Amino acid sequence: MNRHVSSGMPNDLQNYWMPFTANRQFKQDPRMIVSADGMYYKSSDGRDILDGTAGLWCVNAGHNRPLITQAVQEQVAQLDYAPSFQFGHPKAFELANRVADMFPDGMDHVFFTNSGSESVDSALKIALHYHRMRGDAARTRLIGRERGYHGTGFGGISVGGIVKNRMHFGSMLTGVDHLPHTHDLERNAFTKGCPEHGAEKADALIDIATLHDPSTIAAVIVEPMAGSTGVLMPPKGYLKRLRELCDQYGILLIFDEVITGFGRLGAATAAEYFGVTPDIITTAKGLTNGIIPAGAVIVANKIYESAMENADAPIELFHGYTYSGHPIAAAAGLATLETYKQENLFERVADLAPYWEEAVHSLNGTKHVIDLRNLGLVGAIELASRDGAPGARGMDVMVKAWEKGIMVRVTGDILALSPPFIIEKAEIDRIFETLAEILPTVD
Ligand code: PMP
Repeated sequence: MNRHVSSGMPNDLQNYWMPFTANRQFKQDPRMIVSADGMYYKSSDGRDILDGTAGLWCVNAGHNRPLITQAVQEQVAQLDYAPSFQFGHPKAFELANRVADMFPDGMDHVFFTNSGSESVDSALKIALHYHRMRGDAARTRLIGRERGYHGTGFGGISVGGIVKNRMHFGSMLTGVDHLPHTHDLERNAFTKGCPEHGAEKADALIDIATLHDPSTIAAVIVEPMAGSTGVLMPPKGYLKRLRELCDQYGILLIFDEVITGFGRLGAATAAEYFGVTPDIITTAKGLTNGIIPAGAVIVANKIYESAMENADAPIELFHGYTYSGHPIAAAAGLATLETYKQENLFERVADLAPYWEEAVHSLNGTKHVIDLRNLGLVGAIELASRDGAPGARGMDVMVKAWEKGIMVRVTGDILALSPPFIIEKAEIDRIFETLAEILPTVD
């Protein structure tokens, strides 16, 4: 099958202000993608690029999957749009059923959004709303974590802990505190899987709760495995400890599973993988395999029921989006979940994980490498920063990998890998062999 179209580069690249991109640099030497199939992108200069990142952590089943593309095409022709408020269409309800089936027991209610950022802001609002519905309106504080990434809405950057995403945007939400991050190279470098040390960092919640009075805290939000900050695995016991403390204080626990949801660790959710059930889970990305924007917030039954029982108006939650549960996203989501199931793709991740782990750690001893991390089908290669130019070395490796036909993602000097679940062992080898070749050649 050759669906790769010939390139045709636009004459002018200036009008498009690209997100999270060094625009001036990019526009001098653009990396353009024109089509995709299976594990591969095609660049505008006609090269095959092995997708080591599933796009932006979203194309979990690989590109151009027939079931999904067909479902989208059929849905476009059948029902392009239906109002999401006060009217329904069957596929949104079906998708909610399927998601609820996959997610932890007791979390049976699904609120649809269009992105991870919207899922996070929705989750924070739902948490605040829940306490109000129960007559506990003093619970307004939100707790995030240093280095946390929760998208780019004001709620998300407020609870998020990535300084550059916050510093130029004025006031954040008030009443927000942050737990310390869990990155600890001194004690945990080169650990395979979850690090041994650091569970005690969850106890910082005790200090925050004591400082403010626990009865003022609405929710704690963390990524069970922090992705965009450079891939930080939770220390063993950390998430369980957070759960215990939240229970003790009556605080809701939110897992931001925008990356880990839908199979990335080899189970449907990180909650299932770690055996820790939060009260709210945010998702997006893998819900529709990246084919169309969509997200979902999955809530514990007590949260939904509380809104249904206690609402003082016929509409129980004054929140939502024009495109919540969009028919095309719903059709894409149903076909995506069906593809995961038919091809046992989450089991495939679990089966590949040991091989992947060895491949990641094969870079131990390679020039510049100061840490290697892995879990499920996620890998991170942390490089020492070049003196006076943090991020420059990571960027150089990313560009060289692109030139050699491998897509890797870079945050600062940390390379992140998260391929589609259909990756073959030979392709895993190619990724790490290429990186082993490139790393010694960069300054
Ligand atoms: N939360 C997490 C954990 C994420 O990784 C991301 C995206 N990388 C988001 C939220 C935001 O998602 P989006 O870009 O779809 O708004």
